[in-house]
Amino acid sequence: MIVSLHVATGALGGSLIRSRLGSLPLGLLLHLAGDRMPHEDIADRDFEIGSGIAAVLLLAAVRGPFDPAVTGALAASSPDLEHVVRFLRPGGRKHFPSHRLHGWHRSGGVPAPVQLFLAGFLIGIILRSG
Ligand SMILES: [Zn+2]
Repeated sequence: MIVSLHVATGALGGSLIRSRLGSLPLGLLLHLAGDRMPHEDIADRDFEIGSGIAAVLLLAAVRGPFDPAVTGALAASSPDLEHVVRFLRPGGRKHFPSHRLHGWHRSGGVPAPVQLFLAGFLIGIILRSG
């Protein structure tokens, strides 16, 4: 799943559960679920990183940096850091279950533009409900 939608679903989970601590495992579970959903990815890594960071900063600016929506967003998007940061995958091995288990990450299905629209829509709702 694209990074900004991981951010958005994690933020939604955090804002619903209203617990900073609870938002962390929930965010990781949402990442697993998001990667399981058949989806298109965006090959443009700069766009993925940039849009993810922008979404987190926007949430933090409006809801406050320690709001459960923000911690949930960080937890839900953090597993994808290992795609980017080399030292997180020594020997080229990835660790997060949805990246490691063959067949978990499913391609095809929900197109990237739809995910992007959904991410913007969800983040808009979360910002307004703050
Ligand atoms: Zn992932």
